[in-house]
Order: sequence, then structure tokens, then C-alpha cells
Amino acid sequence: MCGILGIVAQTPVNQLLYDGLLMLQHRGQDASGIVTAEGNTFHMHKGCGMVRDVFRTRNMRALTGNMGIGHVRYPTAGSARSSAEAQPFYVNSPFGIVLSHNGNLTNAAQLNQELFRADLRHVNTNSDSEVLLNVLAHELQESTRNYQLDPTAIFSAVSGVHRRCQGAYAVVALIAGYGLLAFRDPYGIRPLVFGTIETEQGSEYLIASESVALDTLGFKLVRDIAPGEAIFIDENGNFYNNKECADYPTLNPCIFEYVYLARPDSVIDGISVYETRLNMGVSLANKITRTMRHLDIDVIIPIPDSSRPSALQLANHLGVNFREGFVKNRYVGRTFIMPGQQQRRKSVRQKLNAISVEFRGKNVLLVDDSIVRGTTSREIVQMAREAGAQKIYFASAAPPVRYPNVYGIDMPTRQELIATDRSDEDICHEIGADYLIYQDLESLNEAVAKVNPAITSFETSCFDGNYITGNVTPEYLNIIESQRNAEPAQSQAKFSTQLDLSFAVVD
Ligand code: AMP
Repeated sequence: MCGILGIVAQTPVNQLLYDGLLMLQHRGQDASGIVTAEGNTFHMHKGCGMVRDVFRTRNMRALTGNMGIGHVRYPTAGSARSSAEAQPFYVNSPFGIVLSHNGNLTNAAQLNQELFRADLRHVNTNSDSEVLLNVLAHELQESTRNYQLDPTAIFSAVSGVHRRCQGAYAVVALIAGYGLLAFRDPYGIRPLVFGTIETEQGSEYLIASESVALDTLGFKLVRDIAPGEAIFIDENGNFYNNKECADYPTLNPCIFEYVYLARPDSVIDGISVYETRLNMGVSLANKITRTMRHLDIDVIIPIPDSSRPSALQLANHLGVNFREGFVKNRYVGRTFIMPGQQQRRKSVRQKLNAISVEFRGKNVLLVDDSIVRGTTSREIVQMAREAGAQKIYFASAAPPVRYPNVYGIDMPTRQELIATDRSDEDICHEIGADYLIYQDLESLNEAVAKVNPAITSFETSCFDGNYITGNVTPEYLNIIESQRNAEPAQSQAKFSTQLDLSFAVVD
């Protein structure tokens, strides 16, 4: 998972891009980058770390121009901590293009071969985003051969990308001296919205992974980019779009955005993330009322932060007290991304601390948004016991996570997922709780779809193993899992043509 951003304005965009990336920081804390365009020249600064650490005043001053894109990266196998794979990526031909990508291509290895052998293009990193950029560059070269560079040629190149690329991709790209391009894969898996603002000098546009970036920068949300649609805004602020770049687009937003990834104040595909989380709480309450009346719950306690709306609504519907039982230390990194199980366990304790008075002698129902490895839940249950809880029930607002994610979410391998080959009872035992309640997948779908009934399908592969793009074979899953397990050094050595072209130095 990553966050992407693109802006065409009438005045310098460096500060807007910086502020916008800060609003998307929850989508990735591993690397950050900005490219601005001033005439035919790109200015780039990127590196490993969070936005506030990567950009110094002198870097910001050098990012001149009224058009730009940005990226915040979440670490995935092979790429974590590599500054060479910080985005945006740049390619000098044709025209000069820079690109930021959120998602994952499931046929990147095959495309990489094609690019090298047939298109005579060199991809220097292990990043599928660099592959995507080169496919776009090749298609643009083809569509402008003997024709001029115009929106029609650009949309035709995006059609070529859709024909060749499989998987999930939300993209923003700049074409030097020309404008900002954005597109979303034909399944609409990863989110992408755009908004506008009218200024005295003319229209300005902002494209972002989440609407929260628009709100805070004063742009008015226009709508989500449709699956398979491309939009292009030239450097003067003229807007063009084409909804027919893909043959059979269908909208299948990733349901995990609503469960955990997105900020609650964002609206994705017309669905308020916050409302879906409230609905998840209601459906958990219904399940408990239907099937677990015997549970004598004294208090409901959320595991901060994403589960709060669900826990609150669950408590309201059961008529049980809602209390804050854990305090979160904001200054510790996300536990999930810490390497090594021992480190992860330690950082759960650093991150969350129990308020004993809420637990002593009580039967508590703890609510989390999801259980992935189970490290967090196991530690939390133990902390609740140490704080004096009598009985500990645990509810997950999402169903058991049983399958790897191939569409750009950093999910562990099946080996590491606590739900692999375990029943709910086994998982309950593993985390040390007295009772475990999982959301049903059908109820999760309903909780989200209820907010926008026009959406009838969601990408739910990590819960049901149904990979919507249809090309994900057991062999592919085995390959990506073994890459994940491999030492970084091994996975870095994947392409024998790799040169060290890293120029992303954070000073
Ligand atoms: P664990 O079960 O210890 O692996 O962690 C589960 C918790 O991590 C959930 O409660 C979420 O808050 C959070 N989480 C879920 N999925 C992810 C993810 N892909 N990246 C980071 N954190 C996640």
C-alpha cells in the first residue's frame, strides 16, 4: 500500500505536495518523494523515511514549478529500506516521464522480460512500478509515432497499459512540458480521487489516493476516477478524460481500505470509510445478539485507533459501556512493519499500555479492526489479563485473514497468518482469549455496500482467496511467498542487469 498525489496549479506546488503527502502518510512511512515540473525540466527529491524526515527547506526550495507528483511508500518484500526504489520513478524517453504507483502488478516478471527483449528497455530495480512506467513509456512512444503528443495519443497509450498490465494500479504521472496523467486499473481495486479549485488565474486540479488530501488542501472533491478511466490535465489546467481506455471495466474496490488502510475521514468510491466502520460494529452487535447471548460483557474496549468507530457502535447496539482501556504512544512506528517477531511483540507493548482501572475484575470485550499475524491480539489479551480482567472476549471487525494479498497490501505469507489452518476456536486459544468473534464476510460486504448500494462487488481476496483479476495461480502465490521469505540480498539479485543507479540521497 502506498499513497500517491498529483497537482496542476497556477502557482508553485511544492508546499501543496508536501502537505498532501503528510495527509497520506498513514499509507506508507518507508519512503517519500516529490517531483515537480518547470517547463521541460523535472526537479526530484526522494529518499527513505517519512515526509518530515526526507524534505528539508533547501530540498523544498529546489522543487520549483506549478505541476508535480508525490509518493509515500509502504515497504513490501524486496523493496523495504531501498532508496533506489523510492518513488516517483523517472524515464527519459519518450518526452521524459515520472510516475508514482499504488498497487502491485501480478505479471511484473513477464513484463520485465518483454520490456528487455522486445521493447529494448532496461528496468533497473525489482520494483513493479518501474516496470509499469516503462510499459507506459513504450506505449506512449508507439501511440505518438508519426502522430503528435495529444490527449488522444495519451489515452491510447493507457489502453496499451491496460492490455499488458495485470493486477492493481492507481497511477499519477507527469509528461515533461506537457501535463499530468492519472489512471486506475480496469478493476478499480486501489483508490484514486480528484478534485478542483477555481482561482483567479484559472482551474487547479488535485488527484490523490484519498479524499482527505483534497479536504485539507481546500480542493473540492469532484469524484473518483472510474476503473479503466484516464484523466489528463495539461500544464495550463485544461482537463481531458476518457472512460473507455479499458475494454470491460468493473468496479471492485479493495475492502481492506475500509477495514484498516484508509483514514476514517476519507470517502472512497462514494463510501465514507468512517460510516463503514460504524456499520461493521452494528453487524458485530447483531451477530453477538443472535448467537452469543450468553456472553456477560461489562465493558467494550477498542484497540486504538482504527477499531474505535466499530467498537463504539457495537457498544451502543448492545447497550454496554464503551471505555478507552488502552493508551497509544503516537511516537512509535507501526508494529506491523517492524522486522522480526520479537521486535513486533516488544513494539506492541511500547505502543499500547493498559489503564488498569478499566479491566480490574471485569469481563471485557476487546475490539480490533482485524487479526493478521495475531501478535497484537496475543499481547493485548495478555496485557488485559495482567491489568486484572476476569474474562476477555475478542472481536474482529473483519473476517479471518487467510490469504496473501497480491494487489499492493503488505500482508504476511500464509505461514505467518494466524488463521492459516486454524479454526476460530484454535485462533481464540492461540491469542489466549476466552471467546473470539469474527465478522462474517457477507456482513462485512453489506456493511460497506450499504453506504453506496451502487457498488456490488469488492476485492476480498485476503479473506476468501478469490483474486478478482483471475490470473493469480497457486504457483504465483508460492513465488511471491518465497520471495517474501528470502533474504533481501537474494531478492535484490533477481535481475542480473541491475546497476546501482541510486541517486536518492537524503542529506
Ligand atoms: P497482527 O495481527 O499482530 O499481525 O496485527 C494486526 C493489526 O495490524 C490490525 O489490528 C491492524 O490494526 C494492523 N494491520 C492490519 N493489516 C495491516 C497491514 N497490512 N499493515 C499494517 N498493519 C496492519
